[in-house]
Amino acid sequence: MDTREQRADRRSDKGEERRMYDVLVVGSANADLTVRVARRPGAGETVLGTDLVETAGGKGANQAAAAARIGGRTALLARVGGDAYGELLLAAQRMAGTDVTPVIVDEGARTGTAMIIVDPDGDNSIVVSPGANAALTPHDVTAAKDVIAASSVVSLQLEVPMETVRAAAATAEAAGTRVVLNPSPAPDTLDRELLAVADPLVVNEHEARQLSGRTGGTAADWASALREQGARSVVVTLGGDGALVLDASGTAAIPGVRVKAVDTTGAGDAFTGALATRLAAGATLPEAARFAVRVGAAAVTKPGAQPSYPTADDLAQLPE
Ligand code: ADP
Repeated sequence: MDTREQRADRRSDKGEERRMYDVLVVGSANADLTVRVARRPGAGETVLGTDLVETAGGKGANQAAAAARIGGRTALLARVGGDAYGELLLAAQRMAGTDVTPVIVDEGARTGTAMIIVDPDGDNSIVVSPGANAALTPHDVTAAKDVIAASSVVSLQLEVPMETVRAAAATAEAAGTRVVLNPSPAPDTLDRELLAVADPLVVNEHEARQLSGRTGGTAADWASALREQGARSVVVTLGGDGALVLDASGTAAIPGVRVKAVDTTGAGDAFTGALATRLAAGATLPEAARFAVRVGAAAVTKPGAQPSYPTADDLAQLPE
């Protein structure tokens, strides 16, 4: 077995032709069901809210939508139920331009949902029902191994079973497909095998601190700790302050883009989808992060997750 680096070198020596997909996202798809309330209810309490708003969400589906909207050739491997929410999620992906051929419609399951209650301060309470996401198995990954091999980058998050994420990472590694890993929601610890294929590991400040095991310190300290733990490269997203990149060539601080933030839901997913797309096109990690910071910034200027994701034209309107 040779290493991913050796295979990558061979590819670039031969100038390997582009693979069929830039990005394959393996992960979750949820319907986000949002109600705004004057005050979030306590135990045993009932409050009245606004009309229900149903939008497409879930970290995997968000990343795929972001990658496709920005022009990446994108596919999604996920499970949805055979219900109206499943149709809503598929329609949103098709509209973004994602190839949904690998999506499995599980007639026996309900589509994953996130029930979101938002108060006037913007604070929320969220209950996630994983539904069909919990049924995405390593077997589904094996069945899609040709799609993984036909993709330049596989993008992973942790809203589907851990053994499925591990299987996707291992299959990608064997196929010489680069792995972008966003370990969110953050587990207490991340197993070393998974960490060792992350190139990069993409974390926000909260995830960086938690996974690095440090209580104090700066983003640069957390990134170094995560690289020492085995990640090939690390990107820490810093909200309005941009991102910090750490790879074999050193550290790069990517400044934020000053925008009027309206809703930061799904900004991290937009960032990761855009990053994966740029890496697939051959950008260095700092170059890809610079682009992803712009996509993340554009996403916070509009409400919602997927509905806020920019096209290349939208991006051109953003200040430098
Ligand atoms: P998460 O959404 O995962 O918590 P961050 O808050 O770090 O992640 O945001 C991810 C990316 O979204 C940032 O790197 C940046 O590009 C963009 N972003 C988030 N908040 C803002 C903001 N207030 N102004 C400009 N860009 C933002």
